[in-house]
Amino acid sequence: MDILKKATGFILLRKNFRSTSKIIDFYSKEYGRLLLLAKGIRDGKNYLNGSLEPLNCCEIIFYKKENQTIYFVKDAFLLYNFPLIIKEYKKYSQIFDLNRFLSFILPLEEKNEEVFRLYLLTLFFINFLPYDKIRNIILSFYLKTIALIGFQPSLLACLKCEKKLFQKKDVFFDTKKGGILCSNCQKESKNSFLIDKKILENLWHLSFIPYSKLLDYQIFPETEKIIKIYLNYHLTDSLTLRKILL
Ligand SMILES: [Zn+2]
Repeated sequence: MDILKKATGFILLRKNFRSTSKIIDFYSKEYGRLLLLAKGIRDGKNYLNGSLEPLNCCEIIFYKKENQTIYFVKDAFLLYNFPLIIKEYKKYSQIFDLNRFLSFILPLEEKNEEVFRLYLLTLFFINFLPYDKIRNIILSFYLKTIALIGFQPSLLACLKCEKKLFQKKDVFFDTKKGGILCSNCQKESKNSFLIDKKILENLWHLSFIPYSKLLDYQIFPETEKIIKIYLNYHLTDSLTLRKILL
């Protein structure tokens, strides 16, 4: 007998499957990411189509058939959505990138409540903020999320000798090793480059400071560049992710 399960979460992405169905990439609080097949959803009369749109927060009832690896949607209820994101294409497109990022990095069926809470908070901030204020939140989301899944760059002390380097001169960043090096230790590192104090401070703030204190904080273009290089290096070297990040 099929056992019904219920979960609350967000639709990250969805794609067409055969002629009438869609596969839903669902990020749930209870089970982490799930792939759910919504059969017959592309039929214009199917009420589930509207509920299962990206960015909607839904409660979904689903089940797994014997000898099948994918779950099937039995029913879905829209709990709420983010109208001020949906209405503004530029905001929506940033969240779509962020959803693709989560879909790429989060393993299936692995619960991670901290990332879930951070994602929810991010959506609330982006919904209410004007577009020109959301950049810092997005960058901070990427850095905080990779920290929560274990890829946080070391930003306070030298990776090798562990000397505290925050606010010091002549600090180097090593993308490959994942953090900063002192001028002495960097001599053995081929991939490191000198990082300006203000850029390091930017990275530190985006990683550790709450969103509410980042709204008017100045981020330099070089900071964005380093985040992009770091994420691309550590998460994948696939062309797909290079294209979607930042
Ligand atoms: Zn050192």
